[in-house]
Order: sequence, then C-alpha cells, then structure tokens
Amino acid sequence: MEEKGCTREEVIAALAGLRAADTPHDHILCSMCTIPHQITTAAREMFAATNLGDPGVFSGTAKLEQLFLESVGELLHCKTAAGWMTSGGTESNLQAIRAAKKLHPKEKPNIVVPASAHFSFHKISDILGLELRTAPYEAGKFTVDTEKMAELVDKNTIAVSAVAGTTEYGVVDDVSRVAKIALENDIFCHVDAAFGGFVIPFLKQPIPFDFAIDGVDSVSLDPHKMGLGTIPGGCLLFRDAESPLSLSVDTPYLTSKSQTTLTGTRPGADVAAAYAVLKYLGKEGFRDIVSGCMENTRRLVEGLSAYGYEKVLDPVLNLAVFRDFSIPDGWKVSHIRDGSLRFVMMPHVTRDVVEKFLNEVGEQKK
Ligand SMILES: *Cc1c(COP(=O)(O)O)cnc(C)c1O
Repeated sequence: MEEKGCTREEVIAALAGLRAADTPHDHILCSMCTIPHQITTAAREMFAATNLGDPGVFSGTAKLEQLFLESVGELLHCKTAAGWMTSGGTESNLQAIRAAKKLHPKEKPNIVVPASAHFSFHKISDILGLELRTAPYEAGKFTVDTEKMAELVDKNTIAVSAVAGTTEYGVVDDVSRVAKIALENDIFCHVDAAFGGFVIPFLKQPIPFDFAIDGVDSVSLDPHKMGLGTIPGGCLLFRDAESPLSLSVDTPYLTSKSQTTLTGTRPGADVAAAYAVLKYLGKEGFRDIVSGCMENTRRLVEGLSAYGYEKVLDPVLNLAVFRDFSIPDGWKVSHIRDGSLRFVMMPHVTRDVVEKFLNEVGEQKK
C-alpha cells in the first residue's frame, strides 16, 4: 500500500488494466458462471452496505432474503422450505451435510455420493471428518448406479446425495431412487442442483429432482450460475424448517440471538441481485433463456458433429461433451477427468458466439 492515495481516474485505470487481461465472455466456453443480468447492477448498488449477518439491523434486507427463499422454495415445490443464500454450491453442500451429521449422529460417519459428485465433497468430508464413499456410474451412462449406491450405505451412513446437473456431463441422477435409499435407511438426502437448479424447472420437459420427490431433505442451487445473479451467490433450502436449527449457535453481540449460517457477515447485495432477476424475468423469462441455451447447445453439437468430432453423450442440459480435439487459439474450453472437452453453454454463449467458434474450428481443419 502506498503512503498517499491516488485519484479516482488512476484507480479505475489500474483496475481496467487488470480486467482487460481476463478472457472476454464471448470466448469463455468453460464456465458455469455468466454475465449477471443487467437488473443486478441497480439491485446490488442499493444493497452494497447491507449485512445479513445482522438481520435485526437490516430487517428490510432480511425480509428480502425471505422473499427470495420463498420464490425459490415455490420453484422447487416446497413453499415452506427454509434456508439461506450462501456463497455458492460448496458452502451449500457443506451446510447440508453438516446438518445431516447433526440430525443423524453416527459413531464413524460416512456419506455416499455419486462418482460425478463435485470436488467440494472432498473438502466437506475433510472438514467434517467423514468417510467419503463414491458410487459408480450406471453402465454406459454418467448417472449414478443407485443399486451400487444402496450397497455402499451401512449403519454409519448419515447421508446420500444426488446431482441434478452434474458439473462434468450435465446429467441428472435418478433422484427418486436416491431419495428412496435415504427413506429406507432413515438417513439424509441432499440434492446438489448447483448448476441444474435454475435450468431443469424451465426445460420444455422438466426432470423430477426437487422437493416434489418424497425423501429429498435439502436442495442446493446457485443463483451465480444459471440464476444470472452476481458472484458469489448460492442458495440452500431444507424441506423441514426445523433442520437448519440443528446448526444454530448463539450470537451474543448481535441483534439476533442465534445464527445457523456458516459465514457471519453475509452480503445483502447478492441476495438483492438474485431476487431482482427472479422478479424481472419471471418463469417466462427464464424459460426463454433456458430454451435459447438449449438451442445453442443443439447447434454446437450439430456443428461439431458435422466436422466429424464425436460427442460423448446427448446433452441433457445446456452442456456438451466431446472427445478431445484441438481448440482454436483464444477460446477457453475445459477438459474433464476422462480427458474429454466440456462446453458449458451459458447465456453469454450466444448464437453468434457459437457460429464464430464453429467457423474457427472449421478454418482450422482446412
Ligand atoms: C459449481 C458446482 C458446485 C460448486 O459450486 P461453487 O459455487 O463453485 O462453490 C457444486 N456442485 C455442482 C454440481 C456444481 O456444478
């Protein structure tokens, strides 16, 4: 830090120089985050100074969070679900499994997750001191083999998890069957819909994944992914409003008496942003956006297939996976664990972007 400050222009110039070194969004094909909806700019600015860690002081912001959670609960078929905005999928998953551990105390606790589970589960099992058991994929598919999952459950299992929109292949596990395993063993069932949560409800044919399924105890979904909110923005909901209370700690010097969230100080700004998007777009607006992303996914697959590249699966959500091939310079695409190329077709990957990318791939083949 310098002794003397600089002018506003100097500060902005310093920031702009660094920002310019980032990859522009029209070349990012590998991210589950996207450009926040324009309505978030105003919402975030209005709530920039708010702290949800102190709801007695920021009661309007706290009410706003409740309205947001109710809207999301309704979307997930459980208006009375209770939870919080979080910093993202990792924190949501951690808090869900932490609650499971409190609600189902076992001597040497373990959790059983699909092979597709997000890497956050490695952090979670480390932090919570849990054995992490991974159930393999169903033969020829990328969804979890629920029979093998059931076999991995024993008397020390506290929770099973399903993924609704896997990070690598964008597929949706058979949540009903995973939830059934939980019901049969009287354990917790968490659905990780970090990516799929704001996609699946808006598909032409939604796939069951939420509280409509008996036995699903919690669902996480990220406004900062397909919710078009600002970063960071996650959300965790529990079917039973009592469940989060298992995480309650006393907060002696705040205006509230107790807290169930992981973080203390929490931004109201990102909640305002996430809520503003839901209000602004409505279900209709989200359906349009998801339908556009699905159409662009279809076009990408069609275009790459026409060049002779091989898709690894038929996309279920707005995510395509291809056997590895060389990518033209400047484009950011990610490789998943099996070495394949993954394209996440977020709203910023517009039809123009897809055509530009396909053209460059075509040029390169000549
Ligand atoms: C992105 C993702 C996460 C992690 O979310 P962060 O917001 O990066 O913490 C967890 N689970 C799934 C399925 C994801 O796609």
